[in-house]
Amino acid sequence: MTDQTDLLQNAARRATRYLDALPQRAIWPSDAALAALEGFVEPLQREPVPAETVLARLDQLGSPATVASAGPRYFGYVVGGALPATVAANWLATAWDQNVHHWAGSPVGAQLEEVALGWICDLAGLPAGTGGAFVTGASIANLCALAAARHALLARLGWDVEARGLYGAPEIRIVAGEEVHSTLLKAIALLGFGRERVVRVPADGQGRMRADALPANSGPTIVCLQAGDVNAGACDPLAEIIPAAHAAGAWVHVDAAFGFWAIASPRHAPLVAGLGLADSWATDAHKWLNVPYDCGLALVRDPLALQGAMSIRAAYLPDDDRREPSRFGPELSRRARGVAVWAALKHLGRDGLAALVERCCEHARRFATGLAAAGHAVLNDVVLNQVLVSFGSPERTRRVLAAVQAEGTCWCSGTVWRGQTAMRISVTSWATTKEDVDRSLAAILRIAAEQV
Ligand SMILES: *Cc1c(COP(=O)(O)O)cnc(C)c1O
Repeated sequence: MTDQTDLLQNAARRATRYLDALPQRAIWPSDAALAALEGFVEPLQREPVPAETVLARLDQLGSPATVASAGPRYFGYVVGGALPATVAANWLATAWDQNVHHWAGSPVGAQLEEVALGWICDLAGLPAGTGGAFVTGASIANLCALAAARHALLARLGWDVEARGLYGAPEIRIVAGEEVHSTLLKAIALLGFGRERVVRVPADGQGRMRADALPANSGPTIVCLQAGDVNAGACDPLAEIIPAAHAAGAWVHVDAAFGFWAIASPRHAPLVAGLGLADSWATDAHKWLNVPYDCGLALVRDPLALQGAMSIRAAYLPDDDRREPSRFGPELSRRARGVAVWAALKHLGRDGLAALVERCCEHARRFATGLAAAGHAVLNDVVLNQVLVSFGSPERTRRVLAAVQAEGTCWCSGTVWRGQTAMRISVTSWATTKEDVDRSLAAILRIAAEQV
C-alpha cells in the first residue's frame, strides 16, 4: 500500500468512528473540548509535518469540539444531516478534485449537475430547460436569482445593467414579506437595490404574506415570496400571489431554501401549490435534501436571464453550445457540488425523498403534540418541519432553552417570532427516529418542569 492509501484509509477510519459515536454524544462540545481548541493556536512552524500527524491532530483536537449537528437529535437552526450516500459521494468527489467551471474542466461534474438539475425541475414541475446554478447555499442562490431578475427587467427597458450599472437606470421596486429571510435582504443590498427601499407586505398570524395586502402595480417590480419560513415553516400563498403579480408585470422570486422540498411529498405539496409558476427560485440542498455543506441551487425559468447576469467570456475559456456551468453562476473555479445532489436523489428516489420529508414533518407534529399535552404553548401551526414553543415568560423560555442546550440530549435554538420568545425545533435530518423525538421530548419536558 502507498502512503496515500494508508492516509486516506486512516481518515476514513477516523470519520466512521466519529459518525458511529455521534448518537451517544452530547450535542454541544464539552468545556474541556472547547478549551483544547487553544491547542491549534501556535505559530506556523518552518518544517513540514507528516500528513498522518496533521490528521491525528485534527481528529484529537477537532472532532471533540464539533457540534453534533450531523447526529439524530440536533434540532437547531435548519441544518439537515448529510445522508451517508452523499458523504460517500462527496469523499469520492473530493478525491477527484474536479474544477467544474466548464465541461472541459470536468465532464463528469458538468454532466451530474445537468442531470440533477433536470431531475429537480421535473420533481418541482419547473419547465425543462430552466437555468440553474450550483452555489454555496440559499444566500447566494437568492443573490443569483435576483441578479437574473435585475438583468431581465432592465433589459426589457433597454438598459444593459451589467454594462452600465445601476447609476441612472430605471428604478426597480422590490416587494417582500414582513417575515422575509435576512439573507434575501442581504442579496438586495449587495445588488444595489437598497434594503430600506423594499416595500414590505404585512404577514398573517403564521408569517405568510397577505395576498390582499400586495401593493398595486407601479413600474418594474420584483416580488419576493417565501416557501418555508425559517421560524414557523409557513409558506406564502404562492398560487394566489404569483398570478396576481404576473398580471401586473412583476418578476416573482421564491426563497424556498427548505420549503422547496415539500413539493416532493404528496401530503405536503399543497402547501407550496403554485411554486412552479414563479420566475426564479432559491433552494438549499444542504438543508432538507441532506447533502453536506456547501450546496444550494439558484433556478431561473428563463436561462438567458441567468446567463445574462452571470456569463463571462475570456479568450482562454471554452466558447461552445454546451451548458457550461460557469455561465450560470457567480464562480469560475469551484468543486463539483452537483455530485452529492445527484447521489442524494439517485439514492432516495422519488419515494425516498417523499418519505424523508414526511418523516421529518411527522416528527415535528409529535414534538408539538407532546409539548402541548404537557401544557406548553406551541406558537405556530405545525404545517411542515418547524415547531415554535414558549415556556411562559420570555425569561423562563430562555432559561429552559439554555438548560436544554446544556443538558446535551438534544439541541434546539431560540428565536423571537412575531414578538414572542420561543424555542425553535427544526426536524430536518434523515437520521432522526421516533425514539430520538421521544427521548428529546422527555428531556425537554423534564428540564421545563425543573425551571420554575
Ligand atoms: C437557510 C435559509 C436561507 C439561507 O440559506 P443558506 O444556505 O444559509 O445560505 C435563506 N432563506 C431561508 C428561508 C432559509 O431558511
